[in-house]
Amino acid sequence: MTSTPELPHVQIRKAARAAMRAAGIDPETPLPIPLADIATAAGLERAMLVDIADEPDLPPSLRGVLAKISGRVLGALAPPERRIYVDTTQPAARVRFTEAHEIGHDALPWHRDAYRGDNEHTLHRDTESALEAEANAFAAEVLFGLERFSEQADGYRPSLDVPLALTADWGTSAHATVRRYAETSRHELALVMTGVRPITLGGAQHVPIWNTFESLSFVKRFGHIGPVLGRRLTDLVYPSLSGLLSSRAAQTEHCDVTLETNVRGKVKFSAQGFTNGRVGMVLLRRRKLDLGRRLQLVGPDGLPLS
Ligand SMILES: [Zn+2]
Repeated sequence: MTSTPELPHVQIRKAARAAMRAAGIDPETPLPIPLADIATAAGLERAMLVDIADEPDLPPSLRGVLAKISGRVLGALAPPERRIYVDTTQPAARVRFTEAHEIGHDALPWHRDAYRGDNEHTLHRDTESALEAEANAFAAEVLFGLERFSEQADGYRPSLDVPLALTADWGTSAHATVRRYAETSRHELALVMTGVRPITLGGAQHVPIWNTFESLSFVKRFGHIGPVLGRRLTDLVYPSLSGLLSSRAAQTEHCDVTLETNVRGKVKFSAQGFTNGRVGMVLLRRRKLDLGRRLQLVGPDGLPLS
């Protein structure tokens, strides 16, 4: 009998778990997840990288790799020298993501022993390069402590306020935290990522939909949300759309969104929006009144009435 090869995401989680265990990180470790401990346990030293031209100590092979990268180099890895380089002039959550990504290139066995450099494209969660996407997935597993984040977040009533309130503790960006929440919650949640530059067409405002994500329980109940919404979000579907069109971080009012789902037909959802000024995020959850226990009538003998 041949055994089925493990899927990459299973191997990535395994590598993240091993890296955290080697650093002695457990569910009691104070947040944010101490990346420096993970790097140290892997024998990696962290160096700052601000301007490649000003770094006299860069290994020549790494310098060759970085010279081919377009745009600003935000992170790099030199496995033989056991060194990671991170541009620390970026916002704190960004620096942490880059550091975790470089640790990932080193920790994933099939990435090993290659000099690597990263720019904003390779560090983007939707990068088309499989290896970069794997390093990003490793980074997310580590930064959110595997299942620790979703266990904490699911202790609260589902709302966009939950991930937004937790970003400070976890040292993660609002964008990454809201996405992690939608993807890993046990609640039925879907997330729509949009642009923030509107187009007016036929009297309605539109923004492009860049991506959609759902929790497993959402998909089970309603199917995928992407095909239901199409390529644009309009204010006819999402009445609070104008709230997303802000150049600064802002949260929008709750509103109702009715969608024709593939699995359940017409369903009314409660929608909450947030923008960081570059991306719009709309979290959908089922609009229902039964958030508490369901009312059960009981007869004089104490047995439930049907
Ligand atoms: Zn990379």
